Amino acid sequence: MIGLISATAAGSAGCQRVASAWPGRTRVYEGPVGDAVRRAFAECEQLVCFLATGAVVRLVAPLLIDKASDPGVVCVDEGGRFAVSLVGGHGGGANELAREVGELLGAEPVVTTATDSVGVPGLDTLGFPVEGDVAAVSRAMLDGEPVALKAELAWPLPPLPVAAAAAAAAAAAGQYSSRQYSIRVTDKVVEPSEREVVLRPPSLVVGVGSSKGAPVDEVLGLVHEALRDAGLSAKSVAELATVDAKAGEPGILGAAERLGVTVVTYSAEELAAVDVPNPSDAPLAAVGTPSVAEAAALVRGGELLVPKRKSTAQPAMATCAVVRRAARGRLAVVGLGPGARDLLTPRAKDELRRASVLVGLDQYVDQIRDLLRPGTRILESGLGAEEERARTAVAEARLGQAVALIGSGDAGVYAMASPALAEASDDIDVVGVPGVTAALAAGAILGAPLGHDHVSISLSDLHTPWEVIERRVRAAAEADIVVTFYNPRSRGRDWQLPKALTILAEHRKPTTPVGVVRNASRPDESSRLTTLAGLDPATVDMMTVVTVGNTATREIAGRMVTPRGYRWQEEPK
Ligand code: SAH
Repeated sequence: MIGLISATAAGSAGCQRVASAWPGRTRVYEGPVGDAVRRAFAECEQLVCFLATGAVVRLVAPLLIDKASDPGVVCVDEGGRFAVSLVGGHGGGANELAREVGELLGAEPVVTTATDSVGVPGLDTLGFPVEGDVAAVSRAMLDGEPVALKAELAWPLPPLPVAAAAAAAAAAAGQYSSRQYSIRVTDKVVEPSEREVVLRPPSLVVGVGSSKGAPVDEVLGLVHEALRDAGLSAKSVAELATVDAKAGEPGILGAAERLGVTVVTYSAEELAAVDVPNPSDAPLAAVGTPSVAEAAALVRGGELLVPKRKSTAQPAMATCAVVRRAARGRLAVVGLGPGARDLLTPRAKDELRRASVLVGLDQYVDQIRDLLRPGTRILESGLGAEEERARTAVAEARLGQAVALIGSGDAGVYAMASPALAEASDDIDVVGVPGVTAALAAGAILGAPLGHDHVSISLSDLHTPWEVIERRVRAAAEADIVVTFYNPRSRGRDWQLPKALTILAEHRKPTTPVGVVRNASRPDESSRLTTLAGLDPATVDMMTVVTVGNTATREIAGRMVTPRGYRWQEEPK
């Protein structure tokens, strides 16, 4: 819950705006502000105070206990110009809240915690449990001191500004000095040394089986024992896995809740098909599979670290087994939009900052280089190396990296998504981020040319035989569909566009509007509205898209407009 506090009329108006935008997430605290702040501080996870920072500092100072548990506090000034993250930037989520409040009120978010302002990801914001001296290691990263990354598990992490090759080699050889700052990625129980933080990736799956009514304590105790004996950290447990029939078993659900993990279940048939070292007859009779714990832990693959064991209670009512799953790399296929920064989506921006490896065409990398986190490994290549880029991106993801593969416009439109996904098997996670494709960017500049059915056709016959392209142009011509030509003309390919226009002209009047947009949303953007008869193909190049209207498309006040349909205006409401 977010507590909202104000003292003045302007502040109260701000409170009301936030409260009405986020009902259910917020509570307005009325009354004297001192009292209101104290109550909100005790009852809420976050506070937004429409008060001067000085006043809020004095009010919350005596209430502060620990940054891990204190609420995050954001102050908004009387003029509503700034949303200041005051306390609990990371742990309390105040930095994020300042951004959200800023967005809502049109205020500038003010974030002063070092890691957020210089592009180093906060170690406590990676989404993994973290142990050790986070403050000291973060400070070392910010100060540019060498920090070694000891990754015992290759897990997809954003780039950490860690000392490169030499330290990594020393790390691999086990040569550390305890004076060295380091980040260790492991699921083993280790005591972080001085100057070290330990990141806990969600690498462990615990398979559990239980008789009806097994107590929570017995299940939980067994899981803890199994992990302890194997030297594994409970903080790396990603999930408990069991058979469908046990989906509602209170002992398993309770243990998962206490561990802070989810329960996943599989059908008995699925589990019966898993090859396990210790099958037995009891579960076969009870739920229809010779193994529950081992099979449920292994069903998605991985390495069996703890074979089935039973609890020590008499009679034993629970079994468990522990598997380390293979790290899954992450491939984000990200469309950058046509060029302008404000047509790059926030989601695309997030994915770029989440990646530790960026793969793309050099000119597209230039478009977003400033957004990348320091330490991002950039694998750029020139025109034409598509297959190789696709293979590289997938290979890096298979190594467990967080990879972003970029393309202009939408990365799935005549771009990298298909060659990459043709390479990828289901051993990596794939995330697609849509982008504004050239046809849409051009359409918005021209007016409303795509108001009815439309297609895109690439005129590049490098990878597609011309007969196929021509057949599609002809079909679009006959079906009276608006056509946008991508890759319309290059130095070596100059007859394809005139040929395609001739085919369209067999079915459309010479006066049919044609929009030509070059470098949509880039600094040297230009556009022209002409007609089928009037278009001079020599003015078209590879930076251009050409949109040809259908038989109903009109030029209206200098804009290209394709009606929604001939009967649109007359349709009953
Ligand atoms: N994935 C891209 C298309 C790649 S094919 C997208 O979704 O937009 C390359 C062709 O796209 C170019 O030859 C040109 O025809 C068109 N194109 C890409 N960006 C453009 C822009 N900003 N302005 C005009 N045309 C563009």
